[in-house]
Amino acid sequence: MIMELEQTKKNIYITTNVACNLRCVYCYENKIGNDEFDVEQTKQKLFEQLSSPSDESVIVNLHGGEPFLVFSKIKELCEWTWAQDFKTHYVFFATTNGTKVHGEIKDWLYENRHRFVAGLSLDGTREMQNMNRSNSFDLIDIDFFAKTWPNQGVKMTVSPKSIETLADGVMFLHSVGLHNILVNLAYMVDWSAPHFVHVYQRELRRLAKFYKENPDLKKDSIFNLCFPILVSEQGRTRRWCGAGVEMMAYNIDGSQYPCHLFFENVCGKEKSQAWHDIDWANPKEYISEECSKCPLYPTCPTCYGANYIERGSIGSRDMNLCKLEKVRTLEVAKYEYDRIVNSKEDTNSLSVEELQSRMATLEAIEKIVPLLESIEQELKDLNVEV
Ligand code: SF4
Ligand code: SF4
Repeated sequence: MIMELEQTKKNIYITTNVACNLRCVYCYENKIGNDEFDVEQTKQKLFEQLSSPSDESVIVNLHGGEPFLVFSKIKELCEWTWAQDFKTHYVFFATTNGTKVHGEIKDWLYENRHRFVAGLSLDGTREMQNMNRSNSFDLIDIDFFAKTWPNQGVKMTVSPKSIETLADGVMFLHSVGLHNILVNLAYMVDWSAPHFVHVYQRELRRLAKFYKENPDLKKDSIFNLCFPILVSEQGRTRRWCGAGVEMMAYNIDGSQYPCHLFFENVCGKEKSQAWHDIDWANPKEYISEECSKCPLYPTCPTCYGANYIERGSIGSRDMNLCKLEKVRTLEVAKYEYDRIVNSKEDTNSLSVEELQSRMATLEAIEKIVPLLESIEQELKDLNVEV
């Protein structure tokens, strides 16, 4: 059974190939090699996973390298799968750099857009994309992605270079019709320079002004900060992804891992073999002692794979990103407070859900005022304007 992406629960990652035609500045994968997935073996895996009826729906992620470099194999796998009468709900998904999505590939994707979703990685303006992703801006048919999957997120990764124009990047993506913008600060790069705190704050303030002037736009993921969860108990053990728990990733040779960052070609042989020793369900493993005491833990994102590769533990975060997360919390709290308190909207025109959400946000922000004040003080000590 085929289904919408938003309804899915379980993730299966299938590595289709290692090669990529770009060399992104923050890429952590070893893209050397021509290994490609075995279609027959993968059919067998999907047969095992999708045959029996399940309440859990599945996203079958086809993951590269750049997956559309092996389009003919992807096509064969998908068309075989669609011809089966699987009882589990599923949808195919591939993250792509978009540069190969033209001609036959584009036609096939359009025809199958209801059962195959392609998520574009695009790092903002032409300059930002070209700086981060091998001068590839002009090779992408942005309009095709915006119109074919209008609700699908676009992944905008911010590097230490492109952070200088972060706000321009987000505004640009909105201007070309990509309104579900998933922004993330690149992992496994050097964020240690103190000036990033100032730059990030400046860019967040520019974005806050932009969203204030354009209230009907869906805010990018940086601004999607759920304040009520900061003051809830359940947020204290929140997980950031399903790696090691409800996700499984298959490498080219068919072996299984918590996510693709644990493949040997990404994290090295020794670490790749040691992931079995991790107790994935134990908060003590995925939350460091320092972060377990931090009030911002419930909304502070991380990547377990990046932590494991760089510092040997899934809970051990890059503490250079810590300061940036504090700036984000402060600026988004100010934005949300202003948006709600100074709203000129007639509250009678708002839905009950929207009113409840605003009330819960306001109450949570009011509860964390001392925390916001302490962040302000910390930033002042860093000579950041607050
Ligand atoms: S803000 Fe810093 S201390 Fe708090 S959870 Fe994030 S990284 Fe850990
Ligand atoms: S560990 Fe990192 S890369 Fe892997 S699924 Fe989680 S967030 Fe994504």
